[in-house]
Amino acid sequence: DLMFDIEKVRADFPILKLQIDGKPLVYFDNAASCQMPQPVIDRLVRYQTTQHANINRGVHYLSETATAEYEESRRKLQRFINAREDREVIFTSGTTDAINLVMHGYGRKFIGAGDEIILTTLEHHSNIVPWQMLAEEKGAKIRVAPINDAGELLIDEYEKLFNERTKFVGVMHVSNALGTINPVKSMIAFAHARGVPVLIDGAQAVPHMKVDVQDLDCDFYAFSGHKMCGPTGIGILYGKAELLERMQPFKGGGDMILSVTFEKTTYNTIPHKFEAGTPPIAAAIGLGAAVDYLLSVGMDTIASQELDLLNYATEQISRVPGVRIIGTAAMKTAVLSFEVKGVHPHDIGTLLNQDGVAVRTGHHCVQPVMLRLKVPATTRASFAFYNTLTEVDSFIASLRTVQKIFT
Ligand code: PMP
Repeated sequence: DLMFDIEKVRADFPILKLQIDGKPLVYFDNAASCQMPQPVIDRLVRYQTTQHANINRGVHYLSETATAEYEESRRKLQRFINAREDREVIFTSGTTDAINLVMHGYGRKFIGAGDEIILTTLEHHSNIVPWQMLAEEKGAKIRVAPINDAGELLIDEYEKLFNERTKFVGVMHVSNALGTINPVKSMIAFAHARGVPVLIDGAQAVPHMKVDVQDLDCDFYAFSGHKMCGPTGIGILYGKAELLERMQPFKGGGDMILSVTFEKTTYNTIPHKFEAGTPPIAAAIGLGAAVDYLLSVGMDTIASQELDLLNYATEQISRVPGVRIIGTAAMKTAVLSFEVKGVHPHDIGTLLNQDGVAVRTGHHCVQPVMLRLKVPATTRASFAFYNTLTEVDSFIASLRTVQKIFT
């Protein structure tokens, strides 16, 4: 992208100037948490220094300001994912919290004994465990759509899982461990043709590509602030209004009610019905600033920069002896998982760290994927638009040293 000024973008991220033991930081752990640019940090400071108060209750200036900024942030998120209405956007503490909200709010009300929930082998533990808890409570059953050796979903097998007992589908948009982009739009259409609602775990998609929830026609879409240049402790659940209205609340408390007596409580309208108690106001406003920042760079630019990084890194790492890439789907985001023959991922991570290179090692919260692909763990380099080809070179040089030390 000729319009993309990488040095200008990098200058927005103060943390990228860090040195680790005298070596420049090479931050390749963006799928776990991405870094925050100065405009988001500034927005948090401005909120804390001039706008902070509790929301939805005060008649005073600061409370009104904080409430208005919080709701403005909700509208930024609405536009960002192209939701029809701002009340379809619920602030949660993250993807995990958003999925648990759907499990409690929708699952516990509408899924019963003998009903079936379809998930996929690729799912993050946060889109497995809540459904297992529900299945155990209700006597429901979980069915799992398998993957091939490249880490791609077997769509025929997914379609074969549907029957008259199928009540819900949960599938991730992009795999955090392998980078696979799933064909969620057609998977959603297939489920809808059988009257089955679909939750998309978008934690690894929203930071890397344009996401349009109306175009996808998903019923629920969950994602996290800290993976998209925003703060921790904040995330989003998008839900179709008519579904959110039929659901029961997840958490009870202040703000989610219209009236309370000891005889009867009536719940507030959406989205407030699902935002009990004082929310993470600062983080929500910071997430709005993160959206502004991502849009200022441009989601298409981000996607194309990251694809360049992935292609270059894939090519370079393939030349390192003993390396095997785990996850070779045709459609991928900028996640490069790999193993090096004879070297434990933990040792790779530790030695890369000595060169200032930050990667993730382990099972990446997807133990079923590791089991299926018969790897105990992988090393994962995950890129963001602020990474450079030079950083990829440093990473590869460091990896070559590791490989030599162990062979
Ligand atoms: N789903 C996916 C695909 C993820 O990558 C993650 C974060 N690793 C989560 C869910 C959970 O997100 P959080 O920890 O922010 O709740």
